[in-house]
Amino acid sequence: MPDPRPVPAAAADLTRRDHGAVLTVDLAAVAANWREMARRAGAAATGAAVKADAYGLGLVPVGEALARAGCRHFFVAHLGEGERLRAALPDAAIHVLNGLPPGTAPAFIAHRLVPVLGSPAEVEDWAAVSRGDHPAFVQVDTAMNRLGLTAAEAEALAGRPDLVAAAGLSHLLSHLSMAEVSAAPLNRLQWHRFSALRARFPTLSATLANSAGTVLGPDFAFDLVRPGIALYGGDVSDAAPGLARPVVRLEATVLQVHDAPAGAVVGYGATATLARPSRLAVLSLGYADGFNRHAIRPDSGAGVVVRGRFAPFVGRVSMDLSVVDVTDIPGAARGDGAEVIGPSRPLAAYAAALGTIDYEALTSLGRRFRRVYLPD
Ligand SMILES: *Cc1c(COP(=O)(O)O)cnc(C)c1O
Repeated sequence: MPDPRPVPAAAADLTRRDHGAVLTVDLAAVAANWREMARRAGAAATGAAVKADAYGLGLVPVGEALARAGCRHFFVAHLGEGERLRAALPDAAIHVLNGLPPGTAPAFIAHRLVPVLGSPAEVEDWAAVSRGDHPAFVQVDTAMNRLGLTAAEAEALAGRPDLVAAAGLSHLLSHLSMAEVSAAPLNRLQWHRFSALRARFPTLSATLANSAGTVLGPDFAFDLVRPGIALYGGDVSDAAPGLARPVVRLEATVLQVHDAPAGAVVGYGATATLARPSRLAVLSLGYADGFNRHAIRPDSGAGVVVRGRFAPFVGRVSMDLSVVDVTDIPGAARGDGAEVIGPSRPLAAYAAALGTIDYEALTSLGRRFRRVYLPD
């Protein structure tokens, strides 16, 4: 029996023909966000952090759009990410933040990737293979205690100009630990530590700021800034709310709508019991799409927007499905779009409902969404 109701326009949309969710990435917004960072960076060069598949949004399409906008410096985390980006951007400077794993120097050289050397051992390894013919960044630690030479190690390196030359060092890099809190005293402390180290390497350029660091002011920009989250529409800094233009839209499809009586239970484990006669909409969206099963609870504020109204999740999220309450949304129907992230449901609200931050919400987005890229 064919469904007698008219088919909503959204259901006829071929982009949703397999009933999955559609992830739309606005490349024009990515480019606009990069230009805003470049404006704030003043005379410094503006790069882009595109690690982790450009924060989940697609390394190659995002990297290509940024290159068209004028970006020349790209930061990835891994050698493999660098190799993928090199294939798409033959002329870009591609820097690998996680440094130089043992034995990989020839691969770095073959793909013209620039390691961000993060320990004395990495500096020695790189110098031994590259012999001054290939550039590298060197990272110094100013508060993170993650990667980077200690102040004492940096001091020792500064005393060895032969090694600085053999390693082809071009930039001194450090990373801010809490720049999104603009008044944090640690920002200025890191700036002072970095400036002191920089004075010991007068031939090197310098780079300190991520997105939030770029917002801290022109003196944090040094020679090159490395924004990431701002490009992707995330929350950047308490000093600049709403700075970034939204980039991501995620829309799932309502597979069916049905009534259920008060007292009925919903989903695996029967964790939810309906307090009233309800109308439930079943969505093609589950934990395989990045919806953390533990985070989605009635009290977490998690939900979607259907026909302009908020619909909270009911019961546990399954692998491929979830259920929302549309009792108070007249006309909610099979084939409706359910906005998960978008104009009515900002990324920040989505991330908060998942109990996390924009960064993790983006990099956890499922791999099976149909992806649509709006042109830059
Ligand atoms: C991820 C990263 C960035 C970009 O940080 P955002 O906060 O996303 O702007 C810059 N530098 C380093 C070393 C990073 O790891």
